[in-house]
Amino acid sequence: MTTFAELGLAEPLLRALTVENYTVPTPIQAQAIPIALAGRDIEGIAQTGTGKTAAFALPILHRLLAKPQPPVRRACRVLVLAPTRELAVQIAGSFRAYGRQTGLRVALMFGGVPKFRQSQSVERGVDVLVATPGRLLDHLSDGAIRLDLAEILVLDEADHMLDLGFIIPIRRIAAMLPAQRQTLFFSATMPREIAALSATLLHDPVRVAVSPVATAAERVEQAVCFVEQSHKRTLLAQFLKRDDAGGRTLVFSRTKHGADRIVQHLEASGLRANAIHGDKSQAMRDRALRDFRDGRCNILIATDIAARGIDVDGITHVINYDLPNVPESYVHRIGRTARAGQSGIAISFCDRSERGHLRGIEKLIKARISVVEPELLAA
Ligand code: AMP
Repeated sequence: MTTFAELGLAEPLLRALTVENYTVPTPIQAQAIPIALAGRDIEGIAQTGTGKTAAFALPILHRLLAKPQPPVRRACRVLVLAPTRELAVQIAGSFRAYGRQTGLRVALMFGGVPKFRQSQSVERGVDVLVATPGRLLDHLSDGAIRLDLAEILVLDEADHMLDLGFIIPIRRIAAMLPAQRQTLFFSATMPREIAALSATLLHDPVRVAVSPVATAAERVEQAVCFVEQSHKRTLLAQFLKRDDAGGRTLVFSRTKHGADRIVQHLEASGLRANAIHGDKSQAMRDRALRDFRDGRCNILIATDIAARGIDVDGITHVINYDLPNVPESYVHRIGRTARAGQSGIAISFCDRSERGHLRGIEKLIKARISVVEPELLAA
């Protein structure tokens, strides 16, 4: 078994990992860290939950430390692009945690909040900038940040960049970085458009892949419950009230409205729940996530996009209140539980009209999902 020290990481990083309680590198870390340390480009196929953030953050911090540079006004040495604010916040948090002993500076830019403090935070130059593409373009056109000195570009969750329409912004941003750079590209899936993007951004990349879509699904105990749409909310409340439901439950709703209605219904049934989705203010989303993480509120209702960045350990149950129409989303959703080797349960509510979605999902995961009767869930 490889250790982080054997991977050749610098002492301050190894100390930070001890604080984080990481003892063994995950497979993606064991594969990607030596390649990234050697300065090669990477095309990584890995999902959230595999430890991919540390797989790129650690070698990047190592390389920054190995070649110190005085800060340059409004410049960054590393640019990390993430599709959502939640994911950006989380990546920046990881860089700060792993880099806590290094004195390296990390800044964050995302939309939905005033720009002023973000531009101030890069005024004197930073080592790592984590940004969502839209807001970064705003700052670039304001002249608040320059990318011509960046040495490393990271693209995380590239397939979600595609879903959110960020491909053109990404190309524009990448064109502003020096052609001579290291690029680390991560995506959970590789649809054609993403492979094309990767081909234009990467130079002679090494490909690494872990836990293909199907194996993420293998860790989670899954069941589908055939239930009419109109009965779903009652069943959900009944299930969540069971003693053994306990733990920490993430409920997925296809729409923002639906998410709010679920919260209302659960509250009317005496259960405490919060929702996060794109119509909520950043402060409200942050609070809901904090409450979920700290155990103050154990039921969180989320839409697929809002859930992308949720990194909460100990999610015991994922409930698909609606089945996603994109089969890959199902795998992303259930991957929120059973992280870091824990076990997890995923239950999908399937209305008559959603049978087609279910077939698509079963085809993707190459398995039949076992059926559970509503009476059993409510018992
Ligand atoms: P990620 O896939 O980057 O979202 O990471 C998933 C989770 O695994 C995060 O909560 C990390 O803190 C955790 N993690 C990452 N690497 C390790 C490791 N080597 N040992 C234990 N936990 C880890």
